Amino acid sequence: LSTWSAVPAGPPDPILGVTEAFKADKDSRKINLGVGAYRDENGKPYVLGSVKKAEQILTTSNPDKEYLPISGLPEFNKAAIKLAYGEDSTPLKDNAIAVTQSISGTGALRIGGAFLGRFFPNTKTIYLPNPSWGNHTPIFRDSGLEVKQYRYYDKKTVGLDFAGLKEDLKAMPENSIVLLHACAHNPTGVDPTPEQWIEISDLIQEKKLFPFFDMAYQGFASGNTTRDAFAVRHFVKAGHQIALSQSFAKNMGLYGERVGAFSLVTASAEEKARVESQLKIVVRPMYSNPPLHGARIASTILNNAELYQEWEGEVKGMAERIISMRDRLYDNLVAQGTPGDWNHIKSQIGMFRCGRFRVIGIFTECANDDICISASLVLRNPRLRSWRRRHTST
Ligand code: PMP
Repeated sequence: LSTWSAVPAGPPDPILGVTEAFKADKDSRKINLGVGAYRDENGKPYVLGSVKKAEQILTTSNPDKEYLPISGLPEFNKAAIKLAYGEDSTPLKDNAIAVTQSISGTGALRIGGAFLGRFFPNTKTIYLPNPSWGNHTPIFRDSGLEVKQYRYYDKKTVGLDFAGLKEDLKAMPENSIVLLHACAHNPTGVDPTPEQWIEISDLIQEKKLFPFFDMAYQGFASGNTTRDAFAVRHFVKAGHQIALSQSFAKNMGLYGERVGAFSLVTASAEEKARVESQLKIVVRPMYSNPPLHGARIASTILNNAELYQEWEGEVKGMAERIISMRDRLYDNLVAQGTPGDWNHIKSQIGMFRCGRFRVIGIFTECANDDICISASLVLRNPRLRSWRRRHTST
């Protein structure tokens, strides 16, 4: 009898499972609408020019392959928090932000979950928006936190259920942890307005809740990294001690390089040093120290004025193309006389959307009801429409 004979087959990952099915499909007209990865106008993966240049600089400098410190590349960490919090951020200037490099956004959330599980001084319950990115629940559950939900998306308006969100925040026990998507909410594409963020910040303060921001798309929502950091920076300015997960997968197109950061706002440089010492103790037995290459790329871009400017332009280019794809999708839906109101296609932001696609029976195989905006190609092209019919089960 095998040692593993009693191991039951687990279900495939709902999002990455779509990629498996995609790879196995021989149809040349196929489009993967599962994973949120940016594609160029030919539907191909896109490597940023600034990334290629950074890699050239790195090759020329002939770097070694030694281990990084447990908390990663110091110049990357510094640049990452400057990008998120802004250079005029008070805790940044006070050297009061604890930070560690992470294995992209997922790793940052996992380190954050583990740290909160160990040191959060109150009930270890985290509230996620309903719906949220599919991996949030298992990440925080595996970190030892209890996972609950708050209202976020309103199916009727295909927008934010702001009243429900506020009611649920008010009903939470004091000192609970609240997860917030900093921008380009996945999977709905629905973000609070700046005014709504200010209200949310006030409410969270009143209820003494602890805000944990997941910022996986800085720059991808509006095309501007400063604008997309509004919520994070407002909360910090308002005096919240936030936790923050950052990913460079989307905004630098560094998906497989696994570049991210986890940070915590603390009260002082002395407190920050204590918190950082414990972050290292969380990381060391998990993976010892993070990978080098991606952090070097990101650091080279963020610390080189010329490359930084080029990168900001490329982020803007990607975001604007996503927005223009939304416009084209909207125009095509209207031109084809598709029944329904399609304004949410344009009002929602980022690579994802939620809403009335089900009315016309499209994309029902998509995990978590999220799709990539390349869906517009499916709608424009009759051959792809029939492909879609053959490949959807319901
Ligand atoms: N948070 C959200 C909301 C996401 O959408 C993603 C990627 N889909 C991540 C975190 C993590 O991605 P990664 O680990 O590739 O940075």
